[in-house]
Amino acid sequence: MSGETMEQLRAKLDEINMDLLRLLSQRADIVQRIGRLKQAQGVQRFDPAREKEMLDKIVAANPGPFDDSTIRHLFKQIFQASLQLQEEEKMHLLVSRKRRAEDTVVEVKGVRIGDGRPVVVAGPCSVETREQMERVGAGLRAQGIVLLRGGAYKPRTSPYDFQGLGREGLILLRETADKYGMVVISEIVTPADIEMATQYVDIIQIGARNMQNFELLKAAGSVRTPVLLKRGLSATIEELLFAAEYIMSRGNSQIILCERGIRTYEKATRNTLDISAVPILKQESHLPVLVDISHSTGRKDILAPVAKAALAAGADGIMVEVHPEPSVALSDAKQQIDLDQFAKLMDSLRQGGFLPEPAQQAVR
Ligand code: PEP
Ligand code: MN
Repeated sequence: MSGETMEQLRAKLDEINMDLLRLLSQRADIVQRIGRLKQAQGVQRFDPAREKEMLDKIVAANPGPFDDSTIRHLFKQIFQASLQLQEEEKMHLLVSRKRRAEDTVVEVKGVRIGDGRPVVVAGPCSVETREQMERVGAGLRAQGIVLLRGGAYKPRTSPYDFQGLGREGLILLRETADKYGMVVISEIVTPADIEMATQYVDIIQIGARNMQNFELLKAAGSVRTPVLLKRGLSATIEELLFAAEYIMSRGNSQIILCERGIRTYEKATRNTLDISAVPILKQESHLPVLVDISHSTGRKDILAPVAKAALAAGADGIMVEVHPEPSVALSDAKQQIDLDQFAKLMDSLRQGGFLPEPAQQAVR
């Protein structure tokens, strides 16, 4: 003993510290694996009986010089940290950036959403006639737009309002999109229609009123068609992410989030665009985020600045309602813009450097 120098003893301590660290990390890895098994079996993570059994075993083997209560205290700290690790892991949803650091890029027929180049989704609130779709399809394509929206199933606030053309509307959308080389986005409201809809639509929209229709979310999670999920009228950001988790946990990871305004006391706009939701969603999740500038504002006169704000805040694109003749539209007539107004909006965004030129990628 007397021959040992301070340096030698310190070197030994350093070595033991490293061994302890390695063992603690190994232990933590096993704890995480146990946590996942418990989660799969639906078993409670905290197991006081098992903890007592482990502590008793350790104390019984305590060779000293630490007394039993100190050993108990030290190991309890380790157990507590392990439990925390299991809890933290449970909190990391599949949609969370903590689970996946890289951005998810949703790709449909060669169109990429979320790759850093903002996209524009445009089209009428509702699909109404073949002629209407022909005019809007041609006009949008001339502007380089490839993401065509249009509602065939309309979840209207009043049961007396136009409810949409249903399957016939999906067929008209598909015909138009195929003619002009576009990608179809349309809302589906019934779980039983999801499978059928995949024949016609390239991206299934789940609307604000259905964001917490859990059976619909599960059905959308069971197919491999990308899903555009809109934030509920009064949903928190966390609730939106949990709704996306319903889809992703069923195996469909191709999800686009959409901020479309929330209910507040403000009456100047139809809803209040929660612009801060954009950077928060981008930070918390790896999924692409779009901003619906039409439903969030309910107006035509502030679309350019609102779109610029959305893109400046980091949105992966915008959605806007465009109708060849908004004054006669069967739904949302007040907020839809015509093709000339749309062209002006695009000019403003392109000239401001908010959108790339030429507009977008071609459809394969
Ligand atoms: C829509 O986009 O057609 C629509 C109904 O929007 P939201 O679900 O956001 O109200
Ligand atoms: Mn609408």
